[in-house]
Amino acid sequence: MSRWRERLRLLVLLPLVVVAVGVLAYFTFRTTLQIDKLRQQSVLEATLALATEKAARVDRQIIDQDNVVMAIADPARMDTLGERWLPTAQRETPSVRAVLVLDESRTVLSFASRATGALAEDEGFRRLLVDRMLGDMELAAQAPDELRHLHREYAQQSYLLSYWQRVHEGRRYVVVAWHDIGRIVRETLPMLLAELQPTTAGANDKPRPSPSAPSRNNVVDEEGRIIFGPPLRSSEFTVGVRFPTTLYNWRVQVSPLASEELASRVQNRRLLEITMVSLSGIVIVIGALAIFLVAEKERRVSALKSEFVANVSHELKTPLALVRMFAEMLQSGRVASDAKKQEYLDIIVRESERLSALIENVLDFARLEKGRGSFEFAEGDVGDAVTRAANVYRYRAEREGVDLVVDVEPELPRARIDERAIQLAVVNLVDNALKYAPEGESIGIRVRAHDGGVRIDVTDQGPGIPPEDRLRIFERFVRLPNTRDDAKGGKARAPVRGSGIGLALVQHIAASHGGKAWVESDLGKGSTFTFTVPAGRVLSTASQATSDHVTQSAG
Ligand code: ADP
Repeated sequence: MSRWRERLRLLVLLPLVVVAVGVLAYFTFRTTLQIDKLRQQSVLEATLALATEKAARVDRQIIDQDNVVMAIADPARMDTLGERWLPTAQRETPSVRAVLVLDESRTVLSFASRATGALAEDEGFRRLLVDRMLGDMELAAQAPDELRHLHREYAQQSYLLSYWQRVHEGRRYVVVAWHDIGRIVRETLPMLLAELQPTTAGANDKPRPSPSAPSRNNVVDEEGRIIFGPPLRSSEFTVGVRFPTTLYNWRVQVSPLASEELASRVQNRRLLEITMVSLSGIVIVIGALAIFLVAEKERRVSALKSEFVANVSHELKTPLALVRMFAEMLQSGRVASDAKKQEYLDIIVRESERLSALIENVLDFARLEKGRGSFEFAEGDVGDAVTRAANVYRYRAEREGVDLVVDVEPELPRARIDERAIQLAVVNLVDNALKYAPEGESIGIRVRAHDGGVRIDVTDQGPGIPPEDRLRIFERFVRLPNTRDDAKGGKARAPVRGSGIGLALVQHIAASHGGKAWVESDLGKGSTFTFTVPAGRVLSTASQATSDHVTQSAG
């Protein structure tokens, strides 16, 4: 029942942990995305402000020049326009190429041009102005002295005109300032856009942004063709702003110098965050799984332990009850025949032997499990120790009709051993053989030299051990579902009693002597339990040799 509850808990808890990790990951990821967005937003805002400022600066510079021209181009003194403007033109209105005054009938009254020797060009412009540009200026809707701009392409050439109307003596005049776009691109834009370092940009110099500029910028026309500046890789951080009044068909584009770096950093961080979140998720899930597995194992061990306690109590109770029963019968004097008396006494001796063997086993085991049990090693003869242990069982074996064949090779290497421990190991193996293989005719105990040391084999003709259990049975508390034909009841199958610590003890003892314990078995034919005692290689304490076992009390 509790096992099912445990399973159920596992089935419910694990998906819960996974879901919780998922939710956590989702929110973490969403939050970082939002923070990223905000950060991006602020970068964008700063870039936009910069672009707006740059566009306004260029606008202002052009309008400042227009204002200068406006002050000079007075219809009242039209004839001296050139004389008054040209001397200061280079300084005050560097990008204005020519100033024209027209009357209402679109006749050019005055044409002051800074271009010397470009008469044909000036004439071409005058015609273009009269024929086409004036028509595009919407003069009728313009208030007197209102400054307006015309920025347009004519014959695939870009023009910028500033124009306003003047009323003089009841007549309207149109004043036009023709800006030299080439010059604006060559001089004004580099100077104003490129972070305004004290510029060296002459007419022929290439625009040079200052090296400390935190951003890159350019100017593009309506179709996105670059008018000025380097091409900008379009990234999420690049912004474009139209010139508000003058060059209104063009846009200033600004991209933070580190925009590519920024974008890749954002990308990297996103990747890193995804990896981190997934990694921690995986770690949490694995951790939870590990905890569940450990808990499951712990639960199994504790179940085995409870079983062990029940087994041991039962093991103690049964022989004790028998001893008491037969002793009381003898005490009452009601047992008449000597043969019966002898039989009862035999039973009492046998059961007491079993009791003391069991108690010894449990005590030894508890001691070893706690890691406190230290062996007393001394140079000794393994063959002698084994023979002595076998002799303890000779009587019982005979009674049970089993031959105990002890075969000790002569001149075995001597080894440093704890003789009592070796005896205990042999006793456990022989006891098992008698318990689990009663149908066999003999039990063989062989002691021979092996690998410079000694190996002890205890062979029975019992049921054998299934391959999958051959390692497991050496673990503490592990017992197989043992039954055997009940000696008295004939066909009935009776469970074989035991505590599940015998073989674990054998392994402890072998390991403490630097050896190993294992079983070879032929199912249905019998088993051979073996443990080795290497000569010379001896560990001083059991705790060192058994450090791979969980240190725990058997009780
Ligand atoms: P116990 O004998 O108290 O159950 P052991 O550790 O000595 O504990 O043995 C563990 C299990 O190994 C036994 O329960 C039994 O199933 C199996 N086993 C041990 N010796 C033999 C054997 N000679 N033949 C068959 N099975 C055996």
